[in-house]
Amino acid sequence: MEGRTHVPVVDEALCGVCGICRGACPALASPDLVEGESGTMRAALAPLASGDKTELAPCQEACPLGQDINGYLACLAEGDQIGALDIILKDNPLPSVLGYVCHHPCQQACFSGSVQSPPSIRDLKRFAAQAPRPEAIVPQGDPLAKVAVVGAGPAGLAAAWQLARQGAKAVVFDAQPMVGGMLAWAIPDFRLPRQELQRDLDYIAAHGIEFKLGQALSPEDVNALRGEYDAVILACGAPKAQKAGLPGEELPGVWQGLDFLRESGLGKQPQLTAPVVVIGGGNVALDAARAALHQGLPVTLAYRRDRGQMPAYAEELEAAAAEGLKFLYRVQPVALEAGQGGGVAALTVQGTIPGQQAADGRVAFAPDPDDQRSLEAGSVILALGQQSEEDAWAAGLGLQSLQADAQGRLAQGLYVAGDLLTGPATVVEAMAGGIKAAKAIMQEVQS
Ligand SMILES: Cc1cc2nc3c(=O)[nH]c(=O)nc-3n(C[C@H](O)[C@H](O)[C@H](O)COP(=O)(O)OP(=O)(O)OC[C@H]3O[C@@H](n4cnc5c(N)ncnc54)[C@H](O)[C@@H]3O)c2cc1C
Repeated sequence: MEGRTHVPVVDEALCGVCGICRGACPALASPDLVEGESGTMRAALAPLASGDKTELAPCQEACPLGQDINGYLACLAEGDQIGALDIILKDNPLPSVLGYVCHHPCQQACFSGSVQSPPSIRDLKRFAAQAPRPEAIVPQGDPLAKVAVVGAGPAGLAAAWQLARQGAKAVVFDAQPMVGGMLAWAIPDFRLPRQELQRDLDYIAAHGIEFKLGQALSPEDVNALRGEYDAVILACGAPKAQKAGLPGEELPGVWQGLDFLRESGLGKQPQLTAPVVVIGGGNVALDAARAALHQGLPVTLAYRRDRGQMPAYAEELEAAAAEGLKFLYRVQPVALEAGQGGGVAALTVQGTIPGQQAADGRVAFAPDPDDQRSLEAGSVILALGQQSEEDAWAAGLGLQSLQADAQGRLAQGLYVAGDLLTGPATVVEAMAGGIKAAKAIMQEVQS
């Protein structure tokens, strides 16, 4: 049976009725995919398929890292957790992290989703990642290249890991005193337990990567590094909160979502006053709202559209609702009002009304001039987006922009990866960008 297609294709001439293909079928990895007593979900789905063979299974094709999902699910089905982790580690040095926070495009792409909920691939990866890490193997002898990586978030870490595996010496610089980028301070530990992150970080570090922490590099520093190293990868993320530009935004008691999460993530317990209002509908808004709820305060999340349009992940919305988060839809902030003590005491919001569908398929919500309200607020957390320092980097490096080629190459020996290149995206996409840049560098230095 051809296993790299999503439709079973049996070559009658080769088939020896041995049943090996059935044993390897990922549909058997999860009991809820077995239909009836004899058939599998895969068999049930086959008649629905278009019949077109695809190069890869849809889950693998949808994964930015191209993980061999069929392979590791088949190992798990056989009870081989270590084998499953070995397969995962071929393309992914942060298996525990992705087992917790990946936005799992594989699951959305799974063919079985047309008849039932797809298998929980992310949770299965989380389980596989509990296996002991194998010994890190790196080529011995003189390094083939020396590469500086600026930023120790998922893009920089994945790049450094790939470089080390290909025989380069990777030196990673970061402005923060710790490794991990957003994983270490922005994504709260109730979503990504720190010991799970540490397990992945230790494995990456075991590849002989050197870290230089607490060093915020300027474009001038990077220009100097270009003289010392064979190549430099910029992986500085999108670490700045996008300000709303509202009257009263600088009042005491008003937080930018990323700043609030940074303080919480670094263990500083930022002080909030009830009631807390969070503005936004993405991951930052949801994580900030849940972190505030965990302080035992009443929290309302106000969003300008409807729940269906929220960019935050559905499971996070469900978790937040279960923890007591209140939602207020179709309102946008207009101004923040000070109370007697000088801090924020209220938030003026305006209602919005849905309009036409825009070109991107999203319904546009327009402000309703007849609907203006005041919400009581002891603290307000604004989570309206993030921005990178792309323009400053480009200007400082003497480039028009940070527009790179498909491998992230900006100029000879200068690469960019992760959120700095793509704008705020996801962990797995940042990692894929880092790995791509690392591979391109090794090709460049070896040619
Ligand atoms: C609150 C929140 C929740 C999220 N939740 C999810 C989620 O559930 N799933 C998901 O897939 N994605 C999530 N994301 C997105 C994800 O975290 C990012 O897409 C990812 O971390 C980007 O990786 P990166 O390596 O490009 O950048 P970052 O992770 O931002 O790392 C960049 C690193 O560069 C360093 N740096 C910056 N400037 C300099 C400088 N001048 N010199 C030296 N070092 C510098 C920074 O200190 C940082 O360590 C979330 C993001 C946030 C903010």
